[in-house]
Amino acid sequence: MSTPRFAIIGAGPGGLTLARILQHNGMQCTIFELDQNRSTRDQGAIVDLHRQMGQLALREAGLFDDFQEHSLPGAEAMKLIKSDGRVFWDEE
Ligand SMILES: Cc1cc2nc3c(=O)[nH]c(=O)nc-3n(C[C@H](O)[C@H](O)[C@H](O)COP(=O)(O)OP(=O)(O)OC[C@H]3O[C@@H](n4cnc5c(N)ncnc54)[C@H](O)[C@@H]3O)c2cc1C
Repeated sequence: MSTPRFAIIGAGPGGLTLARILQHNGMQCTIFELDQNRSTRDQGAIVDLHRQMGQLALREAGLFDDFQEHSLPGAEAMKLIKSDGRVFWDEE
């Protein structure tokens, strides 16, 4: 039986992570991306990856060590404080 091949539409974080997981498991894939290059449109800032979602996918992709090396620990925590000192938003 021949090895299945996969076409992935879109080279966003989802498509790239899926491609990596497929490759990690010995499967071939081709990514098709509409944008010409990374400057085609504005990019976001720090990637916000949660433990039970994005980070789990990176573990499956064998990229978690690289993620830890380049991530900012605790960057997911956010606190908004009003000008009078009261905490408006506190998220860990
Ligand atoms: C303005 C903005 C700012 C953001 N900032 C942040 C941030 O700072 N931090 C953060 O963590 N998240 C941010 N996000 C959210 C983040 O972008 C998404 O959660 C993430 O990109 C989703 O990944 P994805 O792979 O599912 O989709 P996408 O990143 O949207 O990737 C889909 C890709 O598919 C391509 N595509 C679409 N149609 C086709 C087609 N027919 N053929 C080929 N290719 C196609 C698109 O060009 C795109 O590259 C932001 C979102 C927006 C809109």
